[in-house]
Amino acid sequence: MSERFDIAVIGGGPAGAATAIRAARAGARVVVVEKGPHGRDKICGDGLTPRAVAALNELEIALDDAHQIDGLRMIAGKQVRQLPWPDGGRFPNHGAVWPRRRLDAALIDAAAAAGADVRFETSGEPIIDGGGRVTGIDTPRGMIAADLVVAATGAPGGVARVLGADRDPNEPFGLAIRAYVESPRHDDRHLEACLTIRDQHGTWVPGYGWMFPCGDGTVNIGVGALSTMKGFRKLNLNHLLDSYRSLVADTWEIGPNLERPRAWRLPMSAVKRHGPGWVAIGDAAGLVNPMNGEGIDYGLESGMLAADLFLADPATAPDRYDEQIGERFDGFLRTGRRFAFLIGHPRLMRTGLRFAVGTEAIAGITLQVMGNLVDADTPGAAGRTLRAADRVLGVADPLLRRTRAKA
Ligand SMILES: Cc1cc2nc3c(=O)[nH]c(=O)nc-3n(C[C@H](O)[C@H](O)[C@H](O)COP(=O)(O)OP(=O)(O)OC[C@H]3O[C@@H](n4cnc5c(N)ncnc54)[C@H](O)[C@@H]3O)c2cc1C
Repeated sequence: MSERFDIAVIGGGPAGAATAIRAARAGARVVVVEKGPHGRDKICGDGLTPRAVAALNELEIALDDAHQIDGLRMIAGKQVRQLPWPDGGRFPNHGAVWPRRRLDAALIDAAAAAGADVRFETSGEPIIDGGGRVTGIDTPRGMIAADLVVAATGAPGGVARVLGADRDPNEPFGLAIRAYVESPRHDDRHLEACLTIRDQHGTWVPGYGWMFPCGDGTVNIGVGALSTMKGFRKLNLNHLLDSYRSLVADTWEIGPNLERPRAWRLPMSAVKRHGPGWVAIGDAAGLVNPMNGEGIDYGLESGMLAADLFLADPATAPDRYDEQIGERFDGFLRTGRRFAFLIGHPRLMRTGLRFAVGTEAIAGITLQVMGNLVDADTPGAAGRTLRAADRVLGVADPLLRRTRAKA
């Protein structure tokens, strides 16, 4: 191989950039290959929870260019609950909306400033030796040897297939669509989520419609749905977005779509996320919160963890990464996937929703649980709710899966 690095990262989204920033700042030789150009866009809602802001703070990324968000407005039918982000725990009391074109550029620029060799418009493929060990990456400009290859390639595609890291076909996943619109409320300081959306046949959709104000004259409008719903395969996301759009058109005084709405997948599982010489992080490892579709934070956190473990000991990094990511996220993501099967049953979803937003106090707990904002040191009511939900859903899970509606 013509070149050698400590770490070769495939994919320059938030996850890959986080690994590169962290490792390069500590002195590791890092190369990042990104198939898109600098400033490429990513189809996303652009929403950052306080958990994601904490991860950006940890990476010392200034949020001056982002629009600050103070809380969430949850809408379920006629019920509207406007809740501040929780205060006083491990996470800051604010979130943000940061359009991905700019967020991702800020992150990858920080990686380059830290000394990572960032190569745009360059695709990478893992190189696997005869013993099944990943030894580097193959790029159109030659092969690169590396002690650790980090798959940060987003929702599973070719690289995941080569590594055997596809999503688990028995687990749920999401699909979501978004557009940008102009609105006089572009600088609203709340994320808005409508939890009661229906498809063109009137079927309840497990998911939500969102209005995420960007603070720059525009609002990110979108809808997302979970694969556990009846008729998921036939779900027309463009129609779903149109019907959500008509729901919010007056209250937000929105203009026409500024670009064609675009949809993408939200992976929520992976059959494998490490092996000899490699780890998968972010979406490539299926690290998306099934309760709210959030993935930026999980990409940043898993990216930093992969770098830290490599810096501590390159030989044990893949195994330790799998263990530690499991300890940090597997329980929560498992509960989230079970929750996805639960709300795939329309009647259970309706009953659950009525309860979840029934009072201000319960809605506050819902917000903390769904946003994974439970502070491990002071778990409080949200921590107890999460543990109880895990137990109840654990018992109900086999039945919920068995009675799952035909997609
Ligand atoms: C419509 C929608 C709305 C969403 N809204 C939110 C939200 O509001 N908040 C939130 O937190 N999350 C949201 N998500 C999820 C979020 O977008 C992802 O979880 C997040 O982008 C994951 O980051 P990542 O770095 O793992 O992957 P990505 O951001 O997908 O980055 C992967 C990168 O790898 C590159 N790549 C892929 N293959 C190769 C290759 N072979 N060689 C070189 N480069 C390669 C790609 O070009 C890409 O730049 C949303 C997702 C969707 C679809």
